[in-house]
Amino acid sequence: MLAGGSDGRVIVPLWLDPLSLTAPTDARTLRTTDEAVRGIAAIMAKSFGLPVPHRVVVHVYGGRRAFEQGLMRDARVSPVQAATLSDFAIGVGTRGQMLLNDQPADRTERERLRLIAHELVHVSQIELAGGEGRGEQWLAEGMAEWVAFSTLERLGVDTLERRRQAAMAGLRTRATLLQRGLDLEAHGTPQGFTAWHLREGSVPVYQLAFLITDYLIERRGFDRTRGYFASFRRSGDRGKNFDAAFGSSRVDFEADVLVRLKTASAL
Ligand SMILES: [Zn+2]
Repeated sequence: MLAGGSDGRVIVPLWLDPLSLTAPTDARTLRTTDEAVRGIAAIMAKSFGLPVPHRVVVHVYGGRRAFEQGLMRDARVSPVQAATLSDFAIGVGTRGQMLLNDQPADRTERERLRLIAHELVHVSQIELAGGEGRGEQWLAEGMAEWVAFSTLERLGVDTLERRRQAAMAGLRTRATLLQRGLDLEAHGTPQGFTAWHLREGSVPVYQLAFLITDYLIERRGFDRTRGYFASFRRSGDRGKNFDAAFGSSRVDFEADVLVRLKTASAL
């Protein structure tokens, strides 16, 4: 379970080689945090070629205040950033560790697994890129959702198609989100992305990031997305890395996906 200890913190160190594990196909076998992280790491490694460090530390906090303190103590986040993050985020993935807020306690099993998978993708992106905050932030978030939903599909508790439909339905009720354009350049930095979802709302912006990434993966394939994050080991240039990994400029892709989303959401 994800219950917090008396001080609101539980640490689960995991030494694992995901490729040596059997990828689970039934969510009911992932009862504890330890089982969930191992099982999801196995799916991520085997189905998507995503690296996970051999040691993952999972911090579980019993509430917003404990989460905020944990962000400062365990992830060395500044007090101002910890206050902001703990207001809207329920999980954070950093180098080799995940920080999760266990409250509210009535979160569904599916959402618990989605959160762990989402944050584990961020841990993997940091492994690929050799550091934090290096790739396009909208893509880091969209890819985390895409892999998390795909993982839930393999565990038999959700489907990528259902999430696609839900995100598209969400987009239809918020036409203004597309009218202002996607501005992927501005939304590519962690600060720019945070400002975007504080302004427009977390749910619609994460759904939109998922749809943009889903289209990119449909057109270019998942392997290029993984390769894009890995390219940050050679260069920190987001724009050039995007061109090289996907074979088209970010500006061209943005125009392409905007037309696609406007058309699809108008149906
Ligand atoms: Zn995220």
